[in-house]
Amino acid sequence: MKVYNTLTKKKEEFVPLVPGKVSMYVCGPTVYNLIHIGNARPMIVFDTARRYMEYKGYEVNYVSNFTDVDDKIIKKAMEEGVSADEISQRYIAECKKDMEGMNVKPATTHPLATREIDGMIEMISTLMEKGYAYAAEDGTVYFRTRKFSEYGKLSHKNLDDLRGGNRSLLVSGEEQKEDPLDFVLWKPKKEGEPFWNSPWCEGRPGWHIECSVMSKKYLGEEIDIHAGGEDLIFPHHENEIAQSECCNGKTFARYWLHNAFLNIDNRKMSKSLGNFFTVREISEKYDLQVLRFFMLSAHYRSPLNFSAELMEASKNGLERIINAVENLKFLIQNTPVKEMTGEEEKEAAALSEYAARFDAAMDDDFNTADAISVIFELVKYANTNVTEESSAAFAEAVKAQIEQLADVLGLIVEKKEEFLDADIEKLIEERQAARKEKNFARADEIRDILLKKGIVLKDTREGVKWERA
Ligand code: AMP
Ligand code: ZN
Repeated sequence: MKVYNTLTKKKEEFVPLVPGKVSMYVCGPTVYNLIHIGNARPMIVFDTARRYMEYKGYEVNYVSNFTDVDDKIIKKAMEEGVSADEISQRYIAECKKDMEGMNVKPATTHPLATREIDGMIEMISTLMEKGYAYAAEDGTVYFRTRKFSEYGKLSHKNLDDLRGGNRSLLVSGEEQKEDPLDFVLWKPKKEGEPFWNSPWCEGRPGWHIECSVMSKKYLGEEIDIHAGGEDLIFPHHENEIAQSECCNGKTFARYWLHNAFLNIDNRKMSKSLGNFFTVREISEKYDLQVLRFFMLSAHYRSPLNFSAELMEASKNGLERIINAVENLKFLIQNTPVKEMTGEEEKEAAALSEYAARFDAAMDDDFNTADAISVIFELVKYANTNVTEESSAAFAEAVKAQIEQLADVLGLIVEKKEEFLDADIEKLIEERQAARKEKNFARADEIRDILLKKGIVLKDTREGVKWERA
């Protein structure tokens, strides 16, 4: 298996530190709002990488954090008059719902920054002891960037260029820093902010330190893969490397994988630009499996432009696979011939050629676009070669092969159960009862569930009427 390593700018043969095992850390979202589909891209693509490695027989220890203390979270908490913890807990729960909808497996561990403060203080203390960090008068602790001679190796930036040139790349330049490139490890609290005691001041950690600490705690000092969106290469991942390698005296991560952006009108989708769709919004219109399919239809290192047309194409693509599987199920149930003929046995054995081509695509830096093409070829094969004359065993073999490959990509190819009129009526009754009890949250929730299934409610004088959109 080859992976593209941002560190070396090359596709490299993947060799894990411990044979048969993979340690992998993926930087997770800052939880102050519902995640948007840009945030969903690393979740889906690296979940797929994990699934593929598991299918290849690796045991994958997959760690992905939630950044649950940050300016944006604190701002939102202040606006709502609740604690920062309440905000982050709420959006972690919402994020997990979205992940489930997208069939993203829960990580082996989902650590939270606020629960790992002791480890951060310990690492910062070590960095100070080793001379890599210093505390300013107000208690802010900075990393002494220029002391780490390899700084810039991931983003392929030159320290002098950074210092002299592009000032926008400099991390907020307070006068108390020894050097403008020095970055914050710990900062003093401000009025109303959550804070922790530390040897330097009551305050909170800088953003970068959490990943260095959590990666070490849950995966060890040296890990196989560290991943995230390409906007994290600099400064976040560069700073993580500096912290970890100076603290531990070891290579931090051997392979650095970065996904390209999900764009809209060729601009990065982001909260700050306001040009985003939340995963939740998409789920009102599409099954989130369609979103997953859409994300995997491009290579993870290629920019992907979000559009209604591509989503429709993804919906059709996924349906083609689902319909083929449904058709095979029908044939399996309805054919009187159970055993394979000799000819079918040969054909069934040849199905492994599709799996081999699928593997070759995925072995080439997780080329999911080509892997999907192989599934389509298999679907085409099924549609033309498995007929009413085929045996159930043969139809079963073809179906199993499609399902296995789709499953590696995390695509659920089961047809969702039909939503029957009786189910709809039952939910409407429940909604009416909820409204009577003034449980409007539940009533709205039911309206949303129905809307997601394409059922529109209309309150009329004769009561609630519904129609399929
Ligand atoms: P954030 O919550 O902004 O820290 O982002 C969480 C993860 O989503 C990081 O790995 C980001 O690189 C990634 N990300 C954010 N926006 C996009 C986007 N438009 N396309 C792809 N990845 C993104
Ligand atoms: Zn990180």
